[in-house]
Amino acid sequence: MTKKYIATPSKTKEILNKYKFSFKKSLGQNFLVDVNVLENIIKHAGIDQHTGAIEIGPGMGALTEQLAIHADKVVAFEIDQRLLPILKDTLQDYSNVDIIHQDILEADVAEVIGEHFKPEQEVHVVANLPYYITTPILMKLVRDKLPVTSLTVMIQKEVAERMAAKPNNKSYGSLTVAVQYYTEASVVMTVPKSVFMPQPNVDSSILHLVMRDNPPVQVDDEDFFFTLVQASFAQRRKTLRNNLTSYFKETYTKEEIDVLLTEIGIDGTRRGESLDMAEFALLANAFYNDRK
Ligand code: SAM
Repeated sequence: MTKKYIATPSKTKEILNKYKFSFKKSLGQNFLVDVNVLENIIKHAGIDQHTGAIEIGPGMGALTEQLAIHADKVVAFEIDQRLLPILKDTLQDYSNVDIIHQDILEADVAEVIGEHFKPEQEVHVVANLPYYITTPILMKLVRDKLPVTSLTVMIQKEVAERMAAKPNNKSYGSLTVAVQYYTEASVVMTVPKSVFMPQPNVDSSILHLVMRDNPPVQVDDEDFFFTLVQASFAQRRKTLRNNLTSYFKETYTKEEIDVLLTEIGIDGTRRGESLDMAEFALLANAFYNDRK
């Protein structure tokens, strides 16, 4: 008899009934019930028998099981205590999985990587993320500059588009610049609602982030850079010089801002969304050094 994977509607229902499990919407519990989608995620994640995988939110183990089959080792963080005995049962055939009962936002992921994986092992983050905290989770993981090669995650389609956007696109904003400062981002595929149980209200995409060894631009002060990027997008319909004038109202006049913009060759009548990462770096460095 062929094995029935967790990620099928019938097996998932069987587990739900066995444990009388009720989904918690507040924890973003939409479980995957389609093995093809999971295989696609794993393929794009670059998982093979030598690699390690970190999963966030294993749920009942649908993705965890496929990772256990394809990867050398899997470590998964789950916040919902009710799922621990279920995972023990559903993943009993796999000896290469460790479940950590912890909120990922509280976890010291670098320490966990050091403890659970071989020193030179390539590690990838792979997850069907809880949508209510997608951005905090991804920003934490990329900012911490973890020793992971990539992150491949199922997230809300609009958020994936924002993270992977190019300039002059309505999805391009401060989140785009923040994510692409640390990673190379691409949307791998969009996924229909029908592959989840229960079905979410929003469409989903798989986002692939490859960690950069070094930022793509040189900035003199990272915090100031991100603050200035945010200020440039504060009111999307306003020009760059108007957004900067509002932000710097205590320190610069509009004329002074125009002088600085002219010096670096950026037209102040442009909108923030037209600036690429290199131009934002130029802008931030000019203001940062002028203020000192
Ligand atoms: N991986 C499973 C799947 O694809 O079927 C479940 C994915 S479900 C979208 C999100 C999972 O993340 C749930 O199991 C939920 O309990 C868990 N979760 C929610 N918030 C979390 C947090 N802060 N830390 C760790 N896990 C969390």
